Amino acid sequence: MKGNENTIKWQGVSLKDIAKEFGTPVYVYDADKILEKLSELKNAFSNHNLKIKYAVKALSNLSILKLLKNNGTGVDVVSIEEAQLALKAGFEPEEILFTPNCVSFDEIQQGVELGLTINIDNISILEQFGHKYHNTVPCCVRLNPHIMAGGNSKISTGHIGSKFGVSIYQLPHLMRVIETTNIDVIGLHMHTGSDILDAEVFLRGADILFGIAQEFPNLKFLDFGSGFKVSYKEGDIITNVYDLGVKLGKAFDDFCASYGKNLEIWFEPGKYLVSEAGYFLVNTNVVKATPATVFVGVDSGFNHLIRPMMYDAYHEIINISNLDGIKRIYTIVGHICETDTFGIDRKMSEVREGDILAIKNAGAYGFSMASNYNSRLRPAEVLVINGEAKLIRERETFEDLYRNQVEIDV
Ligand SMILES: *Cc1c(COP(=O)(O)O)cnc(C)c1O
Repeated sequence: MKGNENTIKWQGVSLKDIAKEFGTPVYVYDADKILEKLSELKNAFSNHNLKIKYAVKALSNLSILKLLKNNGTGVDVVSIEEAQLALKAGFEPEEILFTPNCVSFDEIQQGVELGLTINIDNISILEQFGHKYHNTVPCCVRLNPHIMAGGNSKISTGHIGSKFGVSIYQLPHLMRVIETTNIDVIGLHMHTGSDILDAEVFLRGADILFGIAQEFPNLKFLDFGSGFKVSYKEGDIITNVYDLGVKLGKAFDDFCASYGKNLEIWFEPGKYLVSEAGYFLVNTNVVKATPATVFVGVDSGFNHLIRPMMYDAYHEIINISNLDGIKRIYTIVGHICETDTFGIDRKMSEVREGDILAIKNAGAYGFSMASNYNSRLRPAEVLVINGEAKLIRERETFEDLYRNQVEIDV
């Protein structure tokens, strides 16, 4: 991803040309970048029996799922619908880990019927699972080790007030249920939320998991979830996966030695694999000076990219129509009738009406969280792969807005 000749190209394809060809707003993903991140993680754990379970909820386009499938990953899904998408993309049921939260036992049974690997995160459902399946269907248990992931509490899921996982303080109760119903536990899982700063937090969680794992004689894997932090702006601290590979790898080997068996080590990265590979391209509708600031109004809003508003996430924004222009200060907003600020007081190349802006880190939780608010259509998605830009999702049409509506006589 480099800028030259006053344009940004991915694999030789200009992003400006993509905006022209497919229109805006449009999500664009770079297949090479996704594969580069995947290799990084694989290399960091090359001495281990590593399984990568891509978190589908980050970006669930079928072509992205196929790309990852063809490059050796499994997936982590949080709903039966995500599981169905993964099956459609070609994943084998056993490569799919089903990690739902607060779903009905009915949905768990559907997962069993599809042949997924089931990950249960509360004792009530586990009890029902045990009564129904005993040891005929293996399962994984999601634990909450109560360690705090760094950053924002909205994306931290390991703390005491969190709804995720079985608390490690409930271990005696958990063991009772497992023993009395004879459940075959083949994996233990923790996912403490996004944005863990460093290997140390993983290690603290891992230590807790290693201790508990000794109580389970039939394990095949330990799943450390995700929490990989990626760079959103210059100078951001990111997870050093090589450092993690060395430190966690060593601790894992020590654990396996004392456990008496070499287990698989699983991760469930979402953001890490796809965040930086995605740019969201929008058109500048209007440059509007007010007494307080200069607004750049673009043809999108939180209906298409909600992270800045929902998580106060910082997404770098660049003007790809005027990369070398003089710098000015702008506040970039959407065009929906709601406060939908993408960036405040951003220093960027002079913006003119009609310029294309690229909002970075839009690969993860961009399109997958998009809605039709304000009755706006959801954007197209384009994948740059093998030196070509390919449409992987058509822009919605007006008919999509009322497709399921039932007009009655009133
Ligand atoms: C969301 C989620 C992930 C992925 O988190 P990222 O921060 O995108 O890497 C992994 N595992 C589970 C269970 C999740 O819910």
